[in-house]
Amino acid sequence: MTTIASRLQAVRARVADAARLHGRNPDDISLLAVSKTWPADAVREARAAGQRCFGENYVREGLAKISALADPGLEWHFIGPLQSNKSADVARAFAWLHSLDRLKLAQRLSVQRPPTLPALNVCIQVNVSGEASKSGVAPQALDALVDRLVELPGLRLRGLMCVPEPSADEALLRRRFAGLRERLEALNARGFALDTLSMGMSHDLDAAIAEGATIVRVGTAIFGERVYPRP
Ligand SMILES: *Cc1c(COP(=O)(O)O)cnc(C)c1O
Repeated sequence: MTTIASRLQAVRARVADAARLHGRNPDDISLLAVSKTWPADAVREARAAGQRCFGENYVREGLAKISALADPGLEWHFIGPLQSNKSADVARAFAWLHSLDRLKLAQRLSVQRPPTLPALNVCIQVNVSGEASKSGVAPQALDALVDRLVELPGLRLRGLMCVPEPSADEALLRRRFAGLRERLEALNARGFALDTLSMGMSHDLDAAIAEGATIVRVGTAIFGERVYPRP
């Protein structure tokens, strides 16, 4: 078994253990393999070990890998900050966007999503760490963004995403993730049917699963430590 295959197996076991520990069905949690900075061959290796969904942070790098692999069985998720001038590439080449944080970007993606493709699945990134983080919409701006977003053709709002500030304080992480879950529940109480909580990475996926994550985004624990600057 290759290193990536055995790490994948270990991460799947970790996800399943955390799910059972918290009374959840492991099948309700999907694993997104974050392949940023890793070459197409690393994706092939993970694919051979049964992984189908991959996450990328950088538009140019993601596009290059998508066309190098040219595998219609793969599902590509864009998870990084997205500049408006690169939105067309994401609208054309990805199945999901996890990091939507402003209406203007949503409006561009809506127009740019090719009508021949299914709607782009979208999560709104919420800033759950307050002052400590600049990414994501402020929680108090979420409702207004959702109301406008659900009107846009070509986009399908699936749920919420967050990246809390790294912390060794498990209780603090649990509170951040619980906060995102409560936001999702509040939206669903208003009549939406959102099914996705994209939260949890290599170091905090257990806390995220405890609080209801449905997608965990895992890079390092599958592919190893990233080396920067990127190749
Ligand atoms: C890089 C990244 C991940 C994966 O992080 P690891 O710590 O390597 O598991 C997940 N989500 C986002 C938004 C990222 O940028």
